[in-house]
Amino acid sequence: MKQISQYLADAQQQLLQVLALPASTARIEAQLLLRAVLPMATRAWLIAHGNEYLDAEYQAAFEVLLKRRLEGEPIAYIVGVRDFYGLQFKVSPAVLIPRADTETLVEAALAKIPIEKPYKVLDMGTGSGAIAISIALLRPQAQVMALDTSLTALQIAGENKQNLAVKNLTLLQSDWFSGLNGEKFDVIVSNPPYISVQDIHLTQGDLRFEPLQALASGKDGLDSIRHIITEAPQHLNAQGWLMLEHGYDQSAQAQQLLSAAGFVEVVSLPDLARILRVTAGKRQG
Ligand code: GLN
Repeated sequence: MKQISQYLADAQQQLLQVLALPASTARIEAQLLLRAVLPMATRAWLIAHGNEYLDAEYQAAFEVLLKRRLEGEPIAYIVGVRDFYGLQFKVSPAVLIPRADTETLVEAALAKIPIEKPYKVLDMGTGSGAIAISIALLRPQAQVMALDTSLTALQIAGENKQNLAVKNLTLLQSDWFSGLNGEKFDVIVSNPPYISVQDIHLTQGDLRFEPLQALASGKDGLDSIRHIITEAPQHLNAQGWLMLEHGYDQSAQAQQLLSAAGFVEVVSLPDLARILRVTAGKRQG
């Protein structure tokens, strides 16, 4: 029989050794896994009840989750949620796990959407809806549309919309722009797939478990970005902005593609690691 604090310490140790996680991450993940099986447990509860013993059924459930994590499954898919922009999103293997780096894209969009105006905003390839929902909640006057080609992804986005009580968001199944009926937008954002199909990273870490269609896009990773940039001008109002997340080494190409498509004021913005991660341009005229 082990006490709760001992379970957490042992799990942290295994996560450290097997997955080579930093100690602080291993500790947080051990807590998240135990909280996923103990409905009453906040982090404070776990600490306050550290000397207590776990019931056998909870022990068994915890061991199952820990084993999945030790086999490499992403923590977000095991516990079914991930925080993004201060909000909690449901996730499943049908959607990309929201990354903190993508907050750069949300902030770039918010900077272009006046708080009091009914701007029309489009999020392409919304997945869990993290980007669209963050924007919609922070800009309640905006009318946000979020599309995805995957119905299972849209179902997750729909649950997040409902859980977070988002009123100003429409979800649409569409393969990029093909399902739109001539609507025009003031801001279009996307975190499209942008990894090369040949990139070794696809076979490592969390990426192995995430939907390939949300990650990989052609030989140089730029197929989706090229497609979106080429088509976007027809779907933007005059002076409208297109803002795209891209790979760590793609900002120059993204800038070039935007300029070639007639966008002006083209600019790249850094993520938390100071890597140029988002490139934006304005539709002229
Ligand atoms: N940022 C993710 C990664 O490199 C990829 C996300 C994407 O392709 N849109 O892990």
